[in-house]
Order: sequence, then structure tokens, then C-alpha cells
Amino acid sequence: MSKRILITGGAGFLGSNLCEKLLNQGNKIFCLDNFYTGFKKNVAHLLDHGDFELIEHDVIQPLPDIEVDQIYNLACPASPPHYQQDPLFTTNTAVFGVINCLELGKKCGARVFQASTSEVYGDPLVHPQPESYWGSVNPIGIRSCYDEGKRVGETYMFDYHRQHGVDIRVVRIFNTYGPRMNPEDGRVVSNFIVQALKGEDITIYGDGTQTRSFCYVDDLLEGFVRLMNQEEIIGPMNCGNPGEFTMLELAEKVLAKVNSTSKLTFHPLPGDDPKQRKPDISLAKKHIDWEPKVKLDDGLDKAIAYFKSVI
Ligand code: NAD
Ligand code: UDP
Repeated sequence: MSKRILITGGAGFLGSNLCEKLLNQGNKIFCLDNFYTGFKKNVAHLLDHGDFELIEHDVIQPLPDIEVDQIYNLACPASPPHYQQDPLFTTNTAVFGVINCLELGKKCGARVFQASTSEVYGDPLVHPQPESYWGSVNPIGIRSCYDEGKRVGETYMFDYHRQHGVDIRVVRIFNTYGPRMNPEDGRVVSNFIVQALKGEDITIYGDGTQTRSFCYVDDLLEGFVRLMNQEEIIGPMNCGNPGEFTMLELAEKVLAKVNSTSKLTFHPLPGDDPKQRKPDISLAKKHIDWEPKVKLDDGLDKAIAYFKSVI
């Protein structure tokens, strides 16, 4: 059945792909964004659709009074250089954004979905990370505005649920990549592909032995929609691809695929950069029958084709 769905951060990388997916499923979409790291051009192809509405608004302020069935809260800068640029704005967005979504959800009875993050595990001492792990996060470092903001976000989600009966779903997203990432986003997959395509130096931070697990956007969004539209579990639930790669391995893959002459260059590791990360996705497998289908090699091919078309 068609639903009225608000997507905050809807003009960003994940948000614009989610708008498109849910619109194609026959829903009415309200896409809300302040264009801090997102772009109108990401949703330009949806603007003429009768069931798509774009609202320019900052989630730090109370949300417009619209009647919706579901709210996906994705508004928040997600790339370290962008969220560290104005850390107070980042924490305010992460915290007040959740509160304002929950207040609207409480008012109109909508289910609220929070895009949380693997960053709640910090620099993890447990590997791979299950949802039961409480994390190892520096509360005062340069990543704290984002990590702690998202942790408080989860706290608000569960307290509004317990105290006010708001219907919630919480997903913890592990590094996701794909079309509509901003070439200037600053995250590792887009940086390496853009550098390789332009023949520029590949910027490895640290010695490149730190690991991440990369999920292709289509896989992730299928997990979002499954979690949102079932009654068995509210989360938090990890969504990510358990394949684990060092940044050196990622760079070598990208260079080989692009057939690039770019050289690897080594730069200081940013503060509090997690050494390893890999999701335990047993919960998602069990409750929403979800696991990623797109292998890193295939996803990188699609992402490379996208970046070729935009740079
Ligand atoms: P993105 O930067 O492309 O998208 C974020 C969107 O939120 C942008 O369109 C931006 O303009 C908007 N925004 C930021 N602050 C806002 C504010 N105060 N008011 C209104 N809009 C605001 O990043 P993304 O990768 O699409 O991430 C989307 C969400 O998913 C974020 O909440 C992020 O924390 C979460 N997440 C993403 C990943 C990932 O790997 N992509 C991993 C973990 C969590
Ligand atoms: N990284 C890198 N070169 C870059 C950008 C990032 O080596 O040009 C490293 C970064 O230090 C981190 C990993 O890649 O160890 C993933 O970084 P990203 O910013 O994509 O995400 P996050 O650190 O939030 O997982």
C-alpha cells in the first residue's frame, strides 16, 4: 500500500537513492534537506514526479507539520572531512535532527527510522562487531561530534520509544559506496576512484593496513526497507558487507580496474581513525533475511562508471 514518507537528508548520497527506490515502489515522498553536503541535482530527475516534494529545511529546527506514515532520518554530514569542518553543527544535526523527527513521529503516529552508524563502535576492541558490543569511542576527539552525536541519537530513539511509545527502527550502517557519492566527498572509495581516474596520487592515510567493509548502496537500501517494513525487530541492526579489506587492498583494486598510472602516497593517519571494522550481520540474516549480494569488485565497477560520467 502506498505510504507518505519523509526522508531527511534526501538530497544526499544515500537519501537520493532511497527517494528514488521508495518513489518507484509507489509511495509519496517528502525529501527534506538543507544542502549542506547534498545537492538538488541528486534529485533533479524526480522533481517533476507528482508524488515527489522537495523541502529545503534544516533538521536542527522543528520539522514542518506534515502528516506522514514513515520518517527516514538520514540528515547528517557523513564524511569525516565534512563532519569535522563544523563539529558543533554536526552534533546539533545528529542530536536535534533525531529529536525533531521523533517529535513529528509522536505527533502524527509515524514510524521513525534512524540512520545510525558503525561509528558507535568507535575503534572496536571486539571484531567483527555484533550489535551487543557497546563500543570504544573517544568522547572528546575530532570524530566525537559524529560518533557521540549518533550514539545520543540512538539513546533518544530508544527513550522516545520507551517513554512515549514512538514506533522506531534503528540501523547501524557500515561504510557504503556507490552512484551519487559526491566526487569531493572525501571518503576513501570516492577519493581513490577519482584520484585514479584523474591520474593523481592515491592518498593512503597511515600505512594502509587499517580495514573497512564496503557495502554497495543498493544492498544497503534493501536492508533499510526490509527493517522498516516488518514488525519483528526494532534494532539496532547492523547493515553492511562483511567482506573486509585493507586500504592498500582497496587502492590496488581501484588502480587495476581503472588501469591508472597513479602512485600510492602515504599521509598521516587522522586522529582516532578506527584500525579495523567488519559487521556481524547475523541479526539481519535471521530477522529480515538480508545479506549483501554485490561483491566489492562488481560494486567498484559500477561506482567507477558513475564517477567517469560525472568528473
Ligand atoms: P551525505 O553527506 O551524502 O548525505 C547527508 C545529507 O544530509 C546531505 O544531503 C546533507 O545536505 C543533509 N544534511 C546534513 N545536515 C543537515 C541538516 N542540519 N538539515 C537538513 N539536511 C542536512 O551522506 P550519506 O552517506 O548519504 O549519509 C546519509 C546518512 O547515513 C547520514 O546520517 C550518515 O550518518 C549515515 N551513514 C552513512 C554511511 C555511509 O557509508 N554512507 C555510514 C554510516 C552512516
Ligand atoms: N582513507 C585513506 N585515504 C583517503 C580517505 C580515507 O586512506 O583518501 C582511510 C581513512 O583513514 C580510514 C579509511 O580510509 O582509515 C576509511 O575512511 P572513510 O573516510 O571512507 O570512512 P571512515 O573512516 O569514517 O570509516
